[in-house]
Amino acid sequence: MQSSLEIRDVRKTYGPVHALHPTNLTIRAGEFLTLLGPSGSGKTTLLMAIAGFVEPSGGRMLLGGRDITALPPEKRNFGVVFQGYALFPHLTVWENVYFPLRARGMGRGEARPKVEAALDLIELGHVAGRKPSELSGGQQQRVALARALVFEPAMLLLDEPLSALDKALRKTLQAELKTIHRRIGTTFLYVTHDQEEALSMSDRVAILRDGRIQQIDSPTDLYERPRTKFVAGFLGRSNFLKGKVTGRQDGRLLLDSPYGRLEVATEEQLPAGRQVTLGLRPERIRLCRAVAADATNVVAGRVADVSYLGPVAEVEVETAGGRLGVTTLTDAGAPPVTGDVWLQWEAASAVLLQEQSNLPDGHR
Ligand code: ADP
Ligand code: MG
Repeated sequence: MQSSLEIRDVRKTYGPVHALHPTNLTIRAGEFLTLLGPSGSGKTTLLMAIAGFVEPSGGRMLLGGRDITALPPEKRNFGVVFQGYALFPHLTVWENVYFPLRARGMGRGEARPKVEAALDLIELGHVAGRKPSELSGGQQQRVALARALVFEPAMLLLDEPLSALDKALRKTLQAELKTIHRRIGTTFLYVTHDQEEALSMSDRVAILRDGRIQQIDSPTDLYERPRTKFVAGFLGRSNFLKGKVTGRQDGRLLLDSPYGRLEVATEEQLPAGRQVTLGLRPERIRLCRAVAADATNVVAGRVADVSYLGPVAEVEVETAGGRLGVTTLTDAGAPPVTGDVWLQWEAASAVLLQEQSNLPDGHR
C-alpha cells in the first residue's frame, strides 16, 4: 500500500548557498513524478533530503500523514538508485539483491521467492550467479533497480539512473522503468536533466531552477501551457513575441506588436497598455503561400534558412518583428519552401508567459 509524501517548506542551505529554497510538494501515492532541471538546480538535494541522506535546514516531510523528517534513511523504507550502480563487486547478482533483505534480518529461505521475483521483474534471473563485473552497464543498473525494489519500498527514488548509459540503451531502460512502474504501482520519484526522458516517462514533472520549483504539471500541460519563459525555453523550442495589450474580445487578448496585430486566447484580464510576452511553439505556426482574408495572427515573412531534419524541417523566417522559427512536416516530392511566405497560427496556440515564476513557495 503506497502513501502520499507531503513536503512542507523543506529547504537546504550550505553556508550562503541556497541549494533548495523552501519547497512545498505533494508526491501522490503511486505516481511517477520527475524532478527536471539544469545541473545545480537542487534536484539531488531534494531527493537526498527525502531519502534522509541530507538533513534539511528546515521544513517537514509527512509520509501518509506520519512525520518522517527525523527518521534515519534505513527507517524510511525508501529504495534508492543512483547514477553509479553501487553494487557490491564481491557479491553475486543474487546476493546483491538479497542484501537489503538480509540487512532486515530475513533468512535466505524466506527471501528466496522475493529475490527471484525481483530478478524476474528485471528479466535477469539467468545471470543470478554472476558478479557485477560480468554484466553490462545496463544489466548492472537493472540489478541496482531490483535491489532497491526487493523489500517493497514505500517509494523508489532514482537520481539520474540512466545518465551513464548510451542513448539506445537509455531508451530501452526508460521503457522498462515505465512498464515496471505500471506493474508494481510503487511511487517513483525520478531525477533527470534530460527533457525528453522526463516528458516520456512521467505522470507529472516538477521543473526546478536555482533551488526552486518553477512549475509542476503533466508533461502535456508543461509543454503546451508553460507559465514562464524559462519553462517554455527549457522544454523544447519556443518563439518569444513581445506585444502590448490593446483590449479584449471573445475570450482573447488583443495585442499590438512588431509583428502586427495579434490575438491570444486566455482567461487573463490585463489592462490596455500592459507589456506581455507570448510563447509560441515552432510547430504551431503554419507556413503558407496564401492566407484567408479573415485569418488571425497573420505575419508576412521571407524564408532565411531551412534545416532539413528528415521527418521535419526547421525554417527560419525573417519578419518585421524579427526572426521566427517554424517547424514543418516534410513532404516527399515537395520542393523546399523559399522566398516570401505567410505565417499564421491559432489564438489558442500561443501562451501568455510571465517573466518570472510568480508561484508562491506554498504552491503544490
Ligand atoms: P542538481 O542535482 O540539480 O545538479 P544539487 O542539488 O546537487 O543540484 O545542487 C544544488 C546546489 O547546491 C548547487 O549549487 C550545489 O553546488 C550546491 N550543493 C550541493 N551539495 C552541496 C554541498 N554538500 N556543499 C555545498 N554546496 C552544495
Ligand atoms: Mg544531481
